[in-house]
Amino acid sequence: MTAHYKVHGDLAVITLDNPPVNGLGYSTRLGITQGLEQAMADSAVVAVVITGAGGAFSGGADIREFGSPKAMQEPNLGSVIRMIENATKPVVAAIHSVAMGGGLELALGCHYRIAAPGASIALPEVKLGLLPGAGGTQRLPRVLGVEPAVNMVVSGEAIKSEMLAMLPGQKLFDKMAKSADTLAQEAMDLAHSVAATRPLPLVRNLPCSHPMGDAFFQFVRNGVGAMVKNLPAPLKCVDAVEAATKKKFDDGLAVERDIFISLMMSSESRALRHLFLSERAASKIPDVPSDTPLREIKSVAIIGAGTMGGGIAMNFLNAGIAVKMLEMKQEALDKGVGIMRGNYEAQVKKGKLKQDKYEQRMALLSTTLSYDDLGSADMVIEAVFEDIGVKEKVFKELDRVMKPGAILASNTSTLDVNKIAAFTQRPQDVVGLHFFSPANVMKLLEVVRGAKTSKDVMATAMAVAKKIRKTAVVSGVCDGFIGNRMIEQYARQAGLLLDEGCTPAQVDKAMEKFGMAMGPFRMGDLAGNDIGWAIRKRRAVELADVKYSRTADLLCEKGRFGQKTGAGWYDYQAGKREAIPNAEVIKMIEDYRASQGITPRKVSEEEIVQRLVFALVNEAAHILEEGIANKASDIDIVYIFGYGFPIYRGGPMLYADEVGLFNVMQAMHRFAQNPFDDANFWKPAPLLARLVAEGKTFN
Ligand code: NAD
Repeated sequence: MTAHYKVHGDLAVITLDNPPVNGLGYSTRLGITQGLEQAMADSAVVAVVITGAGGAFSGGADIREFGSPKAMQEPNLGSVIRMIENATKPVVAAIHSVAMGGGLELALGCHYRIAAPGASIALPEVKLGLLPGAGGTQRLPRVLGVEPAVNMVVSGEAIKSEMLAMLPGQKLFDKMAKSADTLAQEAMDLAHSVAATRPLPLVRNLPCSHPMGDAFFQFVRNGVGAMVKNLPAPLKCVDAVEAATKKKFDDGLAVERDIFISLMMSSESRALRHLFLSERAASKIPDVPSDTPLREIKSVAIIGAGTMGGGIAMNFLNAGIAVKMLEMKQEALDKGVGIMRGNYEAQVKKGKLKQDKYEQRMALLSTTLSYDDLGSADMVIEAVFEDIGVKEKVFKELDRVMKPGAILASNTSTLDVNKIAAFTQRPQDVVGLHFFSPANVMKLLEVVRGAKTSKDVMATAMAVAKKIRKTAVVSGVCDGFIGNRMIEQYARQAGLLLDEGCTPAQVDKAMEKFGMAMGPFRMGDLAGNDIGWAIRKRRAVELADVKYSRTADLLCEKGRFGQKTGAGWYDYQAGKREAIPNAEVIKMIEDYRASQGITPRKVSEEEIVQRLVFALVNEAAHILEEGIANKASDIDIVYIFGYGFPIYRGGPMLYADEVGLFNVMQAMHRFAQNPFDDANFWKPAPLLARLVAEGKTFN
């Protein structure tokens, strides 16, 4: 049982005890109801206190029950709350640390509530594409007032108990405890003081209305609707709170229930729940036990103060970790540090960073031109030119100077991490840390595991990622790792679509309508078309037999590298990001098309989306089968956090599962028959074919 019952004098105390956050799983719910029964039956007990053990009152639903029938198994949370409301003796919620989701709903069902200061109070269900389904949308407006309640339900954000207690007329807390330490005693005092009160107060009996009525809810809908395209839950939250103001309590509950069930079945909520669980799963490496001892990382050295080095350094400074940067020349150091200062100053100007915080961060930064100054750092991250000869020189130096046990990381995007590790006498300490540009902004980090990288280095790298607030995914060694290896196939299809009759703007528009942050050509212009060009030149021999459009090469031959040169697939005006179609580029594509003997055709948006997304999916299936990615959900995380894949679709793998892998493969067979596409390209990966044959999904 994960809720305990104990009698203290004439009071019963039910303590939720389901670590880490006292999730309201089946056994906890059962424990509460059994405790209530015992308390009601015991004539010596005059009142009941419900509280939580450890670091929470309750964090709400038990995520281990997510999506399983157990979550609804009776007594479900609604039944537990009804039982509390119907109790013949007062039930007091003693809230501390965390009361979220179902935890807050449970407290709202109690007759009285007392809270310790500092407790985080929230109804975060909207973040999973849901709404609070156990009366939260009906009870919270009754105790807080409609406006604060709408805010909390729609945003899902936590507010501290002492702030809520200051809201005029609030009835959420009957009392604030002096501190978390005195909460237990003060809750028992409160229970004694109300032991004889009858009838017992119920939140459901409080009135609920807004003086502006319909107009207020229209304002809220306008604001919320503009903020959250493609996610149905926030507007549905507004509907539910509105029902609280217009309907009898039980009818409002029924509205909430219906909305909850419809949201639970929505693909958007499935996607958000998938991401929530996937992000947690990504930090676990199958063969690295969670109790693997970590290496201590208190200081970091960074080699190269260019685009990536500066951004990477900022992550560590933001986390309070000292950084020493090395460059070849003082000017390069000055330039790099200048850009970092500029970034911070822009944040200060926008009010996102306090001046003293900025100064504290910069005080953690030092620079050097000499490797001999780096030896004491716990970790070093190399971000120099993408050239194996340069990497060799750097890693030989690092091997010479770094203290034993230091972690040696490379930010390479395309080079072989095993080769880099072999430049040292300590390949077990070498790992890839593939940040994404801009490194101080992008959440994704691919942690590249070399053949010899030790388990404690992997575990430490994952812990460091968390510390610097990155979402880390483990990748094996291969060209492009997970993300860029897949994007290459996506870009190839995008090129073939140009050959067949599309313009860059048509392709981009289709993908942006699908939900990508940017279509492939705008993305190319942002990242720099020259990067892919250099890679293709390096791999010319290998690519000789591969069918791909040469338009991207022709574009680069014109010097149209993208935003940085003011011209790429589109034109750009200085200081602006707007992509303006360019007639010369369109002509270049048409000429190339003609040279290939292709008569242009109109390609549907659906075909554009399917060809690009299924190109990702098929390559991902190879990546999974080869063990480059540990699990399909890791690939979804890479695409959501690193490549602007729409959150509400849950990533390419979940999207493929939702479309149905059978349908994905059928589409691939169809594409293979197009003479201007590449039959070889569309050969289903063995894993995909196997899953289809077995009627299974990726996730
Ligand atoms: P960059 O050219 O902006 O910066 C490289 C810096 O390294 C320069 O300041 C240069 O002076 C310095 N440098 C070169 N050789 C050095 C040496 N021997 N010792 C010390 N410093 C040296 O390049 P970047 O875009 O920051 O890329 C750096 C690394 O990060 C590359 O491996 C690249 O593949 C990788 N990467 C880049 C991106 C990106 O989008 N730019 C994304 C992920 C990874």
